[in-house]
Amino acid sequence: MIPKETVERIFDTARIDEVVGEFVSLKKRGSSMIGLCPFHNEKTPSFNVSPARGIYKCFGCGKGGNSVNFIMEHEHITYPEALKWLAKKYNIEIAEEEQSSEQVAKDNERESLFLVSAFAQKHFTKNLHETEEGKAIGLSYFQERGFRPDIIEKFQLGFSPDTWRDLTDAAIAAGYKLEYMVKAGLTIQVEDNSAPSPSERAGVRYFDRFKGRVIFPVHNASGRVIAFGGRTLKTDKKIAKYINSPETDIYHKSNVLYGLYFAKKQIIAEDVCYLVEGYTDVTSMHQAGIENVVASSGTSLTVEQIRLIRRYTNNITILYDGDPAGIKASFRGIDLILEEGMNVRVLLFPDNDDPDSYSKKVSSEELKQFIKENTKDFIRFKTELLSLDVGNDPIKKAGLIRDIVESIALIPDAITRSVFVKDCSRILDIEEQTLLNELNKFRKNNYNKKLSGEARANVVAPTEGFVEDESKVGNLSKGLTTNFNTPKERNIIRILLLFGSTKIEVEHLDEKEQPVKVETTVAELIVNELVVDNINLNHVVFQKIFTEFVSGIEKEIIPEISFFTNHPDESVRIVATDILTSPHYIHDWEKEYFMSNGEKYIASSTSPYELSDWEKHSIFVTVEEQVIKRSAIDAVYSLKLAHTEKIINDINGEIKDATSHDDVLILMAKNIRLLQAKKYFANQLGIVVIR
Ligand code: ATP
Ligand code: MN
Repeated sequence: MIPKETVERIFDTARIDEVVGEFVSLKKRGSSMIGLCPFHNEKTPSFNVSPARGIYKCFGCGKGGNSVNFIMEHEHITYPEALKWLAKKYNIEIAEEEQSSEQVAKDNERESLFLVSAFAQKHFTKNLHETEEGKAIGLSYFQERGFRPDIIEKFQLGFSPDTWRDLTDAAIAAGYKLEYMVKAGLTIQVEDNSAPSPSERAGVRYFDRFKGRVIFPVHNASGRVIAFGGRTLKTDKKIAKYINSPETDIYHKSNVLYGLYFAKKQIIAEDVCYLVEGYTDVTSMHQAGIENVVASSGTSLTVEQIRLIRRYTNNITILYDGDPAGIKASFRGIDLILEEGMNVRVLLFPDNDDPDSYSKKVSSEELKQFIKENTKDFIRFKTELLSLDVGNDPIKKAGLIRDIVESIALIPDAITRSVFVKDCSRILDIEEQTLLNELNKFRKNNYNKKLSGEARANVVAPTEGFVEDESKVGNLSKGLTTNFNTPKERNIIRILLLFGSTKIEVEHLDEKEQPVKVETTVAELIVNELVVDNINLNHVVFQKIFTEFVSGIEKEIIPEISFFTNHPDESVRIVATDILTSPHYIHDWEKEYFMSNGEKYIASSTSPYELSDWEKHSIFVTVEEQVIKRSAIDAVYSLKLAHTEKIINDINGEIKDATSHDDVLILMAKNIRLLQAKKYFANQLGIVVIR
């Protein structure tokens, strides 16, 4: 644990232009700096750094954040690692917080498991190369399979002889504790009351888990051995071909990908990760010169594994042997990848070949060519594959459409979704609109599932303002999930962050009901308007930020942007940085929007996604600051309007269900007042309400 004060000091000290400047050559451009983006390939610079705000943003690929985010992204390291990186750069000493003795013991135990695993790997490898049995049985097996010596060495392959305690005895002789051998899954302990030998406690017997197998060590992302896979050399069908280490304190199967340590660099360089079935597929691909490859080895793909890959690339290509049953079984895993917003492509090997066997049949060049020519986009692949089974059966066809659309519905990005809908419409010869209708059903469903999965937190305080029935408001969603008001809430937070301390004049009525002009700030205006009507924000992080403004104003301090981008709560930091680095769209989002610095642009390109250089392609029109009062009032009233509409809707539902005449009258009376409020807010927004 890095102490909080040190974290703050690192955030205060690290200068974004200096940090980015270590990797990117930056040129001054107005108040910001510009350079070639290190996260995607480009020839004209679209990577912007704002020293004043302490943030960076690429208008080409969309990446953005603060100094710590930059280092995490660029060096592919975790948050604490990035803090340490920056501390080192700025000579800030990190005195790690004292750990509890329990924590120390736990860490020591994990370290012991790493140590016995490292010992075991060395022992297995030595067996393979230096013992007669190892050479005659293990090494010759690898050679027969065509494994090159450099690959055997690189992957630290090994051999475990078919005797009971070769490894366990060697480890104990070298001073390792039996306890850790068992905990690391290397030694198996069984109750056995017959004939204990002198070296064993009575009633307990020990033996090597991997006896009689060739060994594939499994490394974690930083290259330490954490587990093993062992392949038997016997042809006996009753013996499992492969066995793997059990779950241990250092090996959680669902979090590990075989080969990742050896693949990392190339995954980044090629911007794609190949996913294969097992150990031999990984080693054979390396042997053929393809190194950006990992295996999920023995488990079906998990979300954790997908996120592990996402640290390096957004693109996964799954390499299959040609077995249709296996492919269909893997569709669920692929849906998981789509849901994570990543691009999935698939490659089918011919007939009975897997990547291992195919790569041994062809040259390295032919393999690369084969991959290049046969990789298909997943949605297209799934559509084509399933439509083979369907023929002309209309019921089956309907099922197929639902199946495909269900996958598309998981993709978070709207543009990607619409591209796939177009494709499917063409491949299946079905109207786009039909697919879209189906798609929207699924998206609504998924969304409802998300909502009901979360505790419906009661975030609304008792009310005296226009909000009549507090149980009906604002308690839809607790987590970070979006809901119907998220864009409106986000806009309010954006305005608070960017213009909170901007001074504006508002009109008040004095005691004599005469209008007087009063100077206030944007933050006070927004906070007062929302507090008066007891409106809380549904989005938990937005609400956290809002609360900071409420308590700041009580103390007559309006918090600065840097307070949020360096906030101790990571979720606040992330949301604040994201808001500051994303353009804000107003009405026609394709043409006109406010930039994060509050300047309004008309883009000459049709889509903001194509906007590569924000100064060259756009025409400066106005500055939001000049119209900030209007912006703030619009933001507040459109949120209030949405709340009112929601309550009116709910009450209409209750009126339908009401059982007594009195209830109906009470509800209708409420509704009349709400409709008046709605009309008022709409008027303020310049919207005409037809009731
Ligand atoms: P063969 O020589 O019969 O082809 P193989 O060693 O190539 O055997 P396959 O059955 O082809 O193994 O399986 C391919 C890959 O799938 C293996 O490299 C292995 O990593 C993985 N695999 C197969 N079975 C298991 C298992 N039970 N547990 C973990 N991984 C397995
Ligand atoms: Mn095989």
